[in-house]
Amino acid sequence: MALTNEEIDQIADKVAEKLDKHSQSALYCPIHNVPVTFDGYEGKWWCPQGHWATPPLKSASELPQPTRLDAEVLTWFERDRAHVEVQDKRTEETVIEWWDEGVEQAFEDGFFKSGRPFHESVLDYAEHLGALAPWR
Ligand SMILES: [Zn+2]
Repeated sequence: MALTNEEIDQIADKVAEKLDKHSQSALYCPIHNVPVTFDGYEGKWWCPQGHWATPPLKSASELPQPTRLDAEVLTWFERDRAHVEVQDKRTEETVIEWWDEGVEQAFEDGFFKSGRPFHESVLDYAEHLGALAPWR
């Protein structure tokens, strides 16, 4: 199935956005595992949890496996297309995703629940599959 030019543009924008984000902040607080920002005046790394982060800082690959607290559920439904993605908020990396028939199947199998509990059910299923570390 071919992508339209509009879809290709959307994907290109998303990739460019991700690359930009990564070049700005690819280092994480070793205690809180959140992205730190460099304070050029102080010459130190600031953690958004409210302290100067002490090196060695972590890279994205050194972060512990995300739990549901680190995860965000992104959805995109249009005509006969469906996309459900669990994203790691810390890195904006895709943890796991489902497309079209995969989304349909997950609803049919009762893993995805429609309506209000949808986001919870996606996170539950991602945990069940081992894509997210257990949290409770
Ligand atoms: Zn911190």
